[in-house]
Amino acid sequence: MTDLFCSAQQADLVLRGTITGKDRESYVEVPFEVGASVVRVTVDFSYTGRDQHTTIDLGLFDGERFRGWSGGNKSWFTVSETDATPSYLPGPIRPGTWKLILGVPSIGDGVKSEYVATIHLQRSGEAPAASTFSRAPLRAGAAWYRGDLHMHDAHSDGSCLSQSGAKVPCPLYKTVEAATARGLDFIAISDHNTISHYDAMRELQPYFDRLLLIPGREITTFEGHANVYGTTEFIDFRLEKGHVSIDDIQRQTEKLHGMFSINHPGLPSGSACMGCGWAAKDTDYSRVGAVEAINGGTLDGPMSGVAFWQEKLNRGFRLTGVGGSDNHNATMDPQAHSAVGYPATVVYAAELSERAILEGIRTGHVFVDVQGTRDRGIEFTAQADGKTVMMGDAIAPVAGANVHLVLTMNGLEGAHAEVIRDGEVTTLLDASVVKEHTETREFDYEADGKRHWVRVNVRAADGALLILGNPIYLNL
Ligand SMILES: [Zn+2]
Ligand SMILES: [Zn+2]
Repeated sequence: MTDLFCSAQQADLVLRGTITGKDRESYVEVPFEVGASVVRVTVDFSYTGRDQHTTIDLGLFDGERFRGWSGGNKSWFTVSETDATPSYLPGPIRPGTWKLILGVPSIGDGVKSEYVATIHLQRSGEAPAASTFSRAPLRAGAAWYRGDLHMHDAHSDGSCLSQSGAKVPCPLYKTVEAATARGLDFIAISDHNTISHYDAMRELQPYFDRLLLIPGREITTFEGHANVYGTTEFIDFRLEKGHVSIDDIQRQTEKLHGMFSINHPGLPSGSACMGCGWAAKDTDYSRVGAVEAINGGTLDGPMSGVAFWQEKLNRGFRLTGVGGSDNHNATMDPQAHSAVGYPATVVYAAELSERAILEGIRTGHVFVDVQGTRDRGIEFTAQADGKTVMMGDAIAPVAGANVHLVLTMNGLEGAHAEVIRDGEVTTLLDASVVKEHTETREFDYEADGKRHWVRVNVRAADGALLILGNPIYLNL
């Protein structure tokens, strides 16, 4: 017998029942209804009587076909169109009557085992879980977390050498291994337009439990490329007249709680390089989460995204500057730019979970470590009216008020810092060479009550950019 009722949380079904000796060596069907807008089915299963040698195995049929069998080895699983817990098949989530299959290899005579199956039916547009591929944060606590937001593998045009030296599509696990070797805390894998890589990510996440895997994709259009992070659902990328507009893509991203980040906008556009730079005229920059200021292919050269980004900042948009390796070969020399984690984006986040990292990026609590080291970093704060804010935050000092700025640099011996205000390098900061492993510089700034932004770069002796900081906004 199965009772079916909705718990307080509307989306969850709790199915309870009793297995007895009569069910030994049989398959008990537990049906449940899946509605039209459901995009993911997640099942938690438990039962009593293990101490009396009851064993209940678990499997799943959707309304049409077999979706997997995990026997007695998994207490929970999830299935969606793109990804499923190993043992289960990803595929369309069609409405209808689905069935859990409970196999009963052993239960004693006279034993009653109570089972509980809690079924979470995630609907499209529902507030997402803390992470897609992990149920718990990989690390608790607010900290600076290092990651790479842009990379390709076998699911698009990433390639590497096979065992016998042939150039082959590079399996996704190679990207994950390279990120681990570099000591990264998170990566977003961003294959072109496709969403086929999420199943491999789901399989790898439990093993790589120190490296957060974030679902990404590179929306690749004739008018530019943009990454979308934080959703596994399909987003139509076919930007063309009469089909999909940039507004449609942005709206769909927002509906799915994703984040939209423009890639390598400083590359040429049009016939010189179709879709390389950013040429989508109707882009609403107030709805863009981030801009790839530093791409592994161009770093801070003439085609970097810094000028494009700063021009938007000057127009009053609060946009986070990020970095991405755009890696296309996970096995390349880690010291070469475009290797996984070169550059790294470093995010101050409340914990190591997908939502916390994306929130940290949205709020601009970010700097880019161009060479993807393990320890280089900056903290940059502004103090006014007894309030202290960090990169990405805003303060509103009145004209004549003193703003006290503090820059702490770590692992940057031999480098020098520069302060950029409204796109111009200033002489506000002592630009002498950094001597200590951890060094702090402070300066004061008299506010004029108008809108400005102030941020920091740190450069090597030869001028190469090492750290790109995000702005503190004044009166915005
Ligand atoms: Zn691209
Ligand atoms: Zn790319």
